[in-house]
Amino acid sequence: MEDRQMPIPKKEVIGVVGNGQLGRMFAQAAHELDYRVWVFGPGKDSPAGQVADREFDADYGDSAALAEFSAGIRVATFEFENIPRSTLDFLASRVPTHPSPDVLYITQNRLREKTWLHENGFPVANFVLVRSRHELEGALDYIGYPAVLKTASFGYDGKGQARIDKGTDIDAAWAGLGAPEAVLEAWVDFGMELSVVCARNQQGETRCFPVCHNTHHHHILAVTQVPAAISTDLSHRAQAYTMQVAQAMKVVGLITAEFFLTKTGDMLFNELAPRPHNSGHFSIDACSSSQFRHHVLAVTRRPLPTVTQPEPAVMANILGDLWEKRGEDGRATVVEPPWDAVRALPGAHLHLYGKKEPRARRKMGHLTMVGDGIKTHRDTLWKLGMDQIFDPPRDPLPWEKTDVLLTARPFVPFAIDVSGVGRLEVDSPEALAKLRGQYIFQGADGDAPRMFAPSLVAGVEQQKV
Ligand code: AMP
Repeated sequence: MEDRQMPIPKKEVIGVVGNGQLGRMFAQAAHELDYRVWVFGPGKDSPAGQVADREFDADYGDSAALAEFSAGIRVATFEFENIPRSTLDFLASRVPTHPSPDVLYITQNRLREKTWLHENGFPVANFVLVRSRHELEGALDYIGYPAVLKTASFGYDGKGQARIDKGTDIDAAWAGLGAPEAVLEAWVDFGMELSVVCARNQQGETRCFPVCHNTHHHHILAVTQVPAAISTDLSHRAQAYTMQVAQAMKVVGLITAEFFLTKTGDMLFNELAPRPHNSGHFSIDACSSSQFRHHVLAVTRRPLPTVTQPEPAVMANILGDLWEKRGEDGRATVVEPPWDAVRALPGAHLHLYGKKEPRARRKMGHLTMVGDGIKTHRDTLWKLGMDQIFDPPRDPLPWEKTDVLLTARPFVPFAIDVSGVGRLEVDSPEALAKLRGQYIFQGADGDAPRMFAPSLVAGVEQQKV
C-alpha cells in the first residue's frame, strides 16, 4: 500500500490533464526534478506532448484512455480548467489528484467562484446571475453602468465577455454571448491589475511568488512586470489573500489570484486559476524556483522552498500576430521573427511553445527580461521590428521604474550548490548576473537554487564569485 505522506519517489510518472504550453513548462520542470510526465488531451504533437514522456491523444471524456492513463501514473494534476469535473473524479478515484475535483469545480465557473469568494469573506465587485435577456435588464438596474457581462463557464482571455454601457444594445449583448448562464459584474475603474501565484502542498505549507503587475491588451495578458511597483503593505495584502484562498480551498498544487487594485487602494478579486498562470512565467528565469517547479514539488509531496527574486523582471507574451508582416501593397505575409538576435540579448530569455501555426492572438511563446537591461532591450526589440510584443507601448511603461526598484531593493546574499561539488556565494546583483551567463539553473529540494554547468564543474571548487 502506498504511503500517501511520503514524497513520491523520483522517476515516477506525473499525469497532466491538458496539453498546452503550461503542461509543456510543467513537464520541463518535472524533468529537471527527475520525474516523468504523461500528458492527456485531444491532439497529437501538442506543446506539452512534444516534451512529455508519453502523450495521450484523447478526449477528456474517453474513459478507456483515462483508465490506461491512470494505470501508469502516481499522481494526477491539470493545466487547464475547461475540462469536465467527471474527468478529474475518475482520476481521483484511482490516484491522488491535485488540486482536487472540488477546487476545479468551483473555479471553472465564474458564478460559483465569485459566490465562493464572497461567502468566504473575500472582496469582489458586485455581481449577479443572469439567465435571460429579461433577467439582464433587472440585473443592470441592480448593478448599474458600466457593467461587464461574462459567460459563467468556459471563458478565458476575455472570451465570452461584453462591456455594457448606457445605450448599449442589450438584445445584441445577450444574444452575442450565446450562453445559457452569465454573470453581470460591476465595471471596476482599476488603477492596476495584479496577480499572485501561490503553491501549497499536502502538509499545508504555502509559498507565494512575488506580486505581478499585469497589462492586458484585447483582454489578453500582454506584459507582466515583477515586482509590481506597489507598497509593501499592498503587496503583502495580495499575497495574504491568495494564501488564505489556498488554505480555505485546501489547494494542493498551485492557485493564482488575479486582482483589481482600484484607484482608491481597494483590492478586489477578479478571478482564480487553480494552475500555473501566464503572469507567473517570469519565475522560470527570475526566481530561485519557478511556478512550474513549485507545482511539481507540491503535487509530489515535497517541501516548498521560499521563493526569492534577486532582480526585477518583465515578461511579454509573444502572440501569433508577430509573424504577420504587411508589405507596402497591404498584403500580409508570414515571417519568422529574428529569434537568434533576441536570444543574444543578455538577460533576455526566450520561450517558444512549439506551436506550428502562428495565428493572430494565439500565445506562441514569451520573452522574459531580467535585470537592469530591460530598458535597453525594449529599444533593441523595437529596432528588430518586435515592438508588437510591447503593445500597447503608448504611455511610459511601468517597468521604466524598475531602475529605481533595482537599487532600492536590498540584495539578499545566498550560496549555491553546484552539482554537489562546491558552493558559490553570491553577494551582489553583479555576481548573480555573471553567474547567469555561465550556469544553468537546476532543480533542487533545498532552499537555494542549484546551478549546474557540465563543462565548468571541474573548476568550480576554486571559484569564488
Ligand atoms: P477576465 O477574463 O474576467 O479575467 O477578464 C479579462 C480582462 O478584462 C481583465 O483582466 C480586465 O482587464 C478586464 N475586465 C474584466 N472584468 C472587468 C471588470 N469588472 N471591470 C473592469 N475590467 C474588467
